[in-house]
Amino acid sequence: MTRRTVLQVAAAGALLTGCADGRPSAAGASPDPAASQAPPEHPPAAPSSAHPALPPLPPGLPAQIEHGPRNRPQVALTFHGRGEPAIATALLTEAERAGARLTVLAVGEWLDQYPQLARRILDGGHELGNHTQTHGNICAMGAAAATAEITGCADRLRKLTGSPGRWFRPSQARLATPLVERLARQAGYEHVLAYDVDSLDFTEPGTGAVRAKVAKDVGPGSVVSLHFGYAGTIAALPGILDDLKRRGLRAVTTTELLT
Ligand SMILES: [Zn+2]
Repeated sequence: MTRRTVLQVAAAGALLTGCADGRPSAAGASPDPAASQAPPEHPPAAPSSAHPALPPLPPGLPAQIEHGPRNRPQVALTFHGRGEPAIATALLTEAERAGARLTVLAVGEWLDQYPQLARRILDGGHELGNHTQTHGNICAMGAAAATAEITGCADRLRKLTGSPGRWFRPSQARLATPLVERLARQAGYEHVLAYDVDSLDFTEPGTGAVRAKVAKDVGPGSVVSLHFGYAGTIAALPGILDDLKRRGLRAVTTTELLT
């Protein structure tokens, strides 16, 4: 099987099993009351200070990263960043309570709606990356449209945090096509962040099923796909974190997983 065929098969599978991209988002339904009612007490800090400097990655990492080293007791919990801000905040807070750090791949439109969440994510010690501007089927787009998806989100991240972030994850696909991989690199993303464990939380199978799916598939080095935007994920996260702890696995940022 050629590499191209592998990618096509993987991409086709991802359309069936990837995140819930085609579903209508509840994000726009209600404005964030905290954002609309409470004026900021302090002027925002200079964006250049918002995003912490990242350590260099080791050489030899693949262009598309599906997992980290298998010989260290660490995993990365990576979240598609979209949906109700209250759900996002609850998940971040629960992770912090357990000493876990997350990686959030944010949708640019979501950052337009809730720009305060970029700072909230970084302030919690989590990592922030790019999950396209509108979360369309990027692997089916032509070069110009796909570039606009990548750079649109990168521009939001840069404006809000001073950095476009280190990671790009394609929307509606686990892996990028060769074209999207190349366009992401041109936009400054050296690596596409895929994953090797799909929690399937977006299918809303129930708290126990999400927890069990992660417990079954996770191991040292895993990159786990999860979603903001589903209340069931809030209910599942404490159990997932307990399971990881019992197995001696730490939830760290993707950069920490790989460096
Ligand atoms: Zn997504």
